[in-house]
This record gives sequence, structure tokens and C-alpha cells, in this order.
Amino acid sequence: MKRSLLIKPMMDENYPIAVRGEGIYLYDVDGKKYLDGSSGAVTASLGHGVPEILDAVYEQSKHVSFVYRSQFTTMPAEKLAQKLNKCIHSKEDYWSFFVNSGSEATETAMKIAIQHFQEQGKPQKNKILSRWVSYHGITIGALSMSGHVKRRERFVPLLEEYPSVSAPHCYQCPLDKIFPDCQLACASELETAITRIGAQHIAAFIAEPIVGAAGGIIIPPDGYYQQIKKICDHYNILFITDEVMTGLGRTGKMFALDHWSISSDIITIGKGLSAGYTPIAAALASDKVMEPILQGSRSIMSGHTFSANPQSAAIALAVLNYIEKGNLVEEVARKGDILLQKLYVLAKKFSLIGNIRGKGLLIGVEFISKSSGVLTQKIVNSAREKGLLLYPASAGREGVEGDAIIISPPFTISEKEINLLVELFSETLHEVQGD
Ligand code: PMP
Repeated sequence: MKRSLLIKPMMDENYPIAVRGEGIYLYDVDGKKYLDGSSGAVTASLGHGVPEILDAVYEQSKHVSFVYRSQFTTMPAEKLAQKLNKCIHSKEDYWSFFVNSGSEATETAMKIAIQHFQEQGKPQKNKILSRWVSYHGITIGALSMSGHVKRRERFVPLLEEYPSVSAPHCYQCPLDKIFPDCQLACASELETAITRIGAQHIAAFIAEPIVGAAGGIIIPPDGYYQQIKKICDHYNILFITDEVMTGLGRTGKMFALDHWSISSDIITIGKGLSAGYTPIAAALASDKVMEPILQGSRSIMSGHTFSANPQSAAIALAVLNYIEKGNLVEEVARKGDILLQKLYVLAKKFSLIGNIRGKGLLIGVEFISKSSGVLTQKIVNSAREKGLLLYPASAGREGVEGDAIIISPPFTISEKEINLLVELFSETLHEVQGD
């Protein structure tokens, strides 16, 4: 039988075929039930089969299901742009550029940043700086920005060397320092890189406010982003936050950067924007970023056939309304604390666990191992056998693929279901650790 070529295990005839989703559960063709402990790839944030979202796409499709972006905009796209602008805590207003995936969103952000300086007569200000470790997407531009050895290695000759500074990883400090004695040396690295390359050549610095799959959830110490923002502003370099994984409630705030009460110049979102009901993502650019473009060529030199698809926009709008109506961002913060406390208890029981870090319902569990992903796969497979879905992640420093998983259930998980998730995870660790 020919199967779809998605990932390696798909070559395996026994790889499950999902046929139904309901709430936080997925069911395969044999009727086996799985608790979606990671919302797929941190995406299905409202769970599966939510009637309000399904109704929204049906309603929209009855009116208009496709327009091309150079001919029309639509009501759902405009309402979505307005709603997203309201979600951002900043003195500035933000414009939305809709695309179809997180990779397209970060690549668009990169192009907007470069265009911002081109329109001011500074075409040489076109490099992007990013961090080891990080992940910003799989297309060549997005991969150029990604500090992810394994995903880069086959394509190195095609990539720019944008990753140039360390991530703020206190558990395994790449600079071998300890916070707060380090005085945020990892943030100071940005200034060193800028002075070495020359600010006149750099358009933007991009960072995931909380590093996702590339680092098994890395949360910076307080003060880090304040210093980063100061450095970017000082050298007239745009600050892009990649909130594809963290945005729209996942960390218990609308955007993860809100935890540090500052704002960035361009924000990328994806995944949770549609909660997985359709492909849609966006680059959100502030007035400051857009001003020279609006006074210059007046259009962003990017775009896709399906940009701002009306059905996708209607879904995203319904998702944001659902989050607002259910106070789900606050709920994520509350449930995330409950889940985190329960996982801390597990950490005392299983010596395999090295470190647990999380905000809201985005939690990384890093394991003590140097198996470069073998242990992670064993844990993910064992959990799946038991009916629990986990998201595999890397951990550790540049070039060292450690072992970690991400636990990120839908925002709608109940406290009883949190207990079940922890129970299944505990059984998994028991089996893998062997005691
Ligand atoms: N940025 C971040 C932070 C991500 O986590 C991801 C996906 N894991 C991407 C970008 C790329 O998104 P996509 O897979 O939708 O292209």
C-alpha cells in the first residue's frame, strides 16, 4: 500500500490513521483513543470538533469561499486584522499580513524588515540575526534563521548563517554561567554580534520569546528581553518575535512576550491562530515598521495564492472569539499551574527527568540523557501505546540534540483530564525507566 510521505514512521504500515477527533481526544481507524497531550504540534488549542468553529467555516463558505488578494479583501479578513491588533499590548497599531504556515510567516517578517530599510534608502541593512538554539520554519529563508543543526545540516550550502547568539538557557547555560551573576551575558552577546557585523548591515533580530521544539521550552530569566529590546532600539534594528508556537493564549498570556511587558516590532503567529482547523498564519507589523513602506512602494513584496483565504479567516476569527468568550487565556494560566505542580511531583519520582519548565499550557520536560533523540522517541512511542500523545523536542546546547518532550494539551482540558494525562505520563516513564 502507498502511504502519504509525511514523516519517517509513516513508512510503517502500522502507523495509526486518525478518523475522529472530539474534545481533547483523537480516535484511530481501529477505535483506539488517544489523549492529545500536545495539541498535535502545539496547534489544536481548542481541541477537536468544536461546533462553533465548524459552523463558522460553513457559514462563510455559503457567502464567499475564495477571493484573490489583489482583487478583493473580505469581511472576515478585515475583522480578523482588527481583532489581532486589539490583542496586542502596545502603544502602536499593527497591520496583519496573512499567510498559510509559520514558516511563511517568519519568512514574510524577514522580508518586511528588509523592505522597511530598503524604502529608507538602506538596502545594505538586510541581514537577520537569530539564536542558537531556535526554530523559525522549514523553508530556506526561515531555516536560515533557525539555530537547529539537525534540520539545517543537509541544506547548509543554501543557508545564510543568521544564528549568531546564544539562547538564554539557564538550565544548560551555553556560556557556562549562572544567573544572576552572569549579568545576562547571553543578551550582551547580541551587542557583540551587532558591533562585529556592523549595525548598518543588520535589519532585524528574531527570537521565539520562549524557545519551543528546538530547546524543549526555554524560558529566559527576567530582564533578558528588556535588555534585548534596548540593544535593538539603540542600533536601529527591528525586533521580531516568533510567536508561532507561543502566541494566542498558549502561555497564559495572549502573547508570550507579554510576560515581560514589552512589545516587538513584528510578531509572527500560526498554529493556534486557527487552532488547527485550517492552515493560516500571519506576520503582524507595527505602524513604525510599515510607515516607510506605506510612504514608498505601498505594498509588501510577498504573498501567496491562499493569503487571507476567507474561510481560513472566518475560522481564525471564530477561534479568537471562542478564546475570549471562555476566558481561556486566564484558564490556561490556571490549568498550566496545576499541571506544572503535578509534573514537579513526577520529577521527584523519576530520576530520568532532568528539568521541567513551562508557562501556561506549554511545558517542556528535559531528560537526563545523551541519546540524541533515541530516548525521546522511546518515550513518545511508549506514551502513544498507552493512549497519550506527546510532542518530541530537542534539548540542550547548539549541536547537542538532547532528549525532551513538550506537554501542551488543548486549553479546554478539564482538571480530571489533567490527572489522566499525568497518570499516563507517569506509566510511560515507569515503563521506560524500568522501575
Ligand atoms: N516558528 C516556530 C516557533 C515554530 O514552532 C514553528 C513550527 N514548529 C514554525 C515557526 C514553523 O511553522 P510551520 O510548521 O507552520 O511552517
